[in-house]
Amino acid sequence: MANQKGGVGKTTTTVNVAAALALAGQRVLVVDLDPQGNASTALGVSHHEGVRGIYDVLIDAIPLDEVIQASSSVDGVWCAPSTVDVVGCEIELVGLDEREFRLRSALRVHVSEERGASSGTNTGSDNVTDNGRRYDFVLIDCPPSLGLLTINAFAAATEVLIPIQCEYYALEGLTQLVRSVDLIQRHLNPELRISAILMTMFDARTRLSAQVAAEVREHFGALVLATSIPRSVRISEAPSHGETVLTYDPNSVGALSYREVAIELTRQPLAAR
Ligand code: ADP
Ligand code: MG
Repeated sequence: MANQKGGVGKTTTTVNVAAALALAGQRVLVVDLDPQGNASTALGVSHHEGVRGIYDVLIDAIPLDEVIQASSSVDGVWCAPSTVDVVGCEIELVGLDEREFRLRSALRVHVSEERGASSGTNTGSDNVTDNGRRYDFVLIDCPPSLGLLTINAFAAATEVLIPIQCEYYALEGLTQLVRSVDLIQRHLNPELRISAILMTMFDARTRLSAQVAAEVREHFGALVLATSIPRSVRISEAPSHGETVLTYDPNSVGALSYREVAIELTRQPLAAR
């Protein structure tokens, strides 16, 4: 989930799509790359100073297995937490070898480890999916910038989902974001694609939301998911309870919308987008 604008719904989308997939029986790893650690909070994963997290993975090459915690709010979701020291990663990474590929290397080692092969037990002993993989999905919550943390995410991922908030200037900055993905695709990760655009905080009562949605659809066509996420108090309340909206209020319109998004994301083959 990437967009260098803050407050557009990256974190909310990450944790709620993760929850929707997990509640449908999938195993999901969330990598929290934002120093604010909001994804870790919503998943009920401790990330106070001193907790080992994604900083240790990126800077000291600590195996992911040693930092991942199971979510306390949703079974089937695990999280590599972010702590405040992740702020320093943007600068500290500059001087390190393979600075763009540190997350990719850590993920490759972690997801290919066999059941019981690793020393850590954080991800449980029943450590694989039905098809022998450790996770069905890995979701990465990016910080609001296009710096080295987001570049690490782009180098590790195959798909970029861009949440766009239905407000004035929604398209501002998107040219730069699309160009960044394009550059990474050409130089660092040929597999990377923008695979979905999600309209968030849609307010059906305002003409503005409809106008912005129409403009985004005109610009991005079939990449825009049919489901948009309505503005909803339940969605914004859930994190303060250490929960996702899917567990906090499963029948709310926000929970239903994120379930629809998870269905859309898994139904469409990448090539068809
Ligand atoms: P980002 O990760 O892009 O910075 P967040 O997901 O943290 O954005 O969302 C920004 C703020 O908006 C948060 O306080 C969040 O709770 C709130 N928010 C996100 N989506 C919705 C929504 N659909 N309805 C109401 N509030 C929302
Ligand atoms: Mg965020």
